Amino acid sequence: MKRRDFITGAATGLVVGAGALALSACDEQQAKQDCPATPAAPAVQKKKRELKMVTTWPKNFPGLGTGAQRLADRITAMTDGELTVKLFAAGELVQAFDSFDAVSGGQAEMYHGAEYYWQGKSKAFNFFAAVPFGLLAHELDAWVHQAGGQDLWDELAAPFNIKPFIAGNTGVQMGGWFNKEINTVEDYKGLKIRMPGLGGEVLRRIGAAAVSLPGGEIFPSLQSGAIDATEWVGPWNDLAFGFYKVAKYYYSPGFHEPGTALSSGVNLEVWNSLSDSHKAIVRGAMQAEAANMYAEFTARNGDALKTLIDQHGVVLKSFSDEVMLEIRKAAEEVLAEVAAADEMTGRVYRSFVDVRRKATNWYGIGDGPYARVRAL
Ligand code: CA
Repeated sequence: MKRRDFITGAATGLVVGAGALALSACDEQQAKQDCPATPAAPAVQKKKRELKMVTTWPKNFPGLGTGAQRLADRITAMTDGELTVKLFAAGELVQAFDSFDAVSGGQAEMYHGAEYYWQGKSKAFNFFAAVPFGLLAHELDAWVHQAGGQDLWDELAAPFNIKPFIAGNTGVQMGGWFNKEINTVEDYKGLKIRMPGLGGEVLRRIGAAAVSLPGGEIFPSLQSGAIDATEWVGPWNDLAFGFYKVAKYYYSPGFHEPGTALSSGVNLEVWNSLSDSHKAIVRGAMQAEAANMYAEFTARNGDALKTLIDQHGVVLKSFSDEVMLEIRKAAEEVLAEVAAADEMTGRVYRSFVDVRRKATNWYGIGDGPYARVRAL
């Protein structure tokens, strides 16, 4: 059901405010001959509850903002509006990075964002979005849904009054846009590159001058030479930002975000107040949007990569194994230090590393050899 249709439905009384009876809807509709003359079942009272969803994304930001909107609309439609989720883009109700506190404190009922934005609360949150040399999208799903990740995440988030869910994934990101070739790790020395978070910390270990810049400042900084290089997301989002106009080389892969999960957190008291039916719907809607967003990124990235190369003359490059192994060494040091932050983060890290080891083994037997031959 389209949102517009739903609102129309609400206006005719199919879904009305708390306390009203569905019978009145039928009475109204009977005039339009949409209702049976005698209702077959007793009238059911429909209660409408509005849930405010704050997000860390600009309005309708492709993939992330639009995915959050789809999630909101899906929950609303699946509950016939009994849970009506109203989305607020970054800055509309609270600033992007205040989303977590807003839900924690009850100012909003839900957020859609990425858990690494909350690493100031606990470093452990990083593992539920992306960490350098971490898990691919489907492997992160495996950890969270089937290998103990959700229990740890619930335990981590509960003291903040939040019930968290995976609600999207960008898939593997790109290594970034450069104006010179990266042939050895020495080429990173002194390089001013936009790379936030733990990825930036890894690059600092190998001599880069990594900086964090918000999305809107990246293009002018690259154009003016204030920075030499940048990462953003992948072909779809990067094409939209026009980085091909100011950088020549486009490197893969993005070691720093191999499958970044987006997430939605629900205020824990709100979550606990939901009926079992509504909990099942919300849980299902989260998983549905997670799969849908990953599918959208995969489809759009394929098209956008072709456009970047065929129409804009972008030179596609891959980091050498030598460069990647140096970066991996630094990444493992950074993750081990993060794990030492506190007991909870240590447990999350050990669970994560255990799943990563098994996933790496399986990938080496299953997906990896198949994908290699398919690309020959
Ligand atoms: Ca990124």
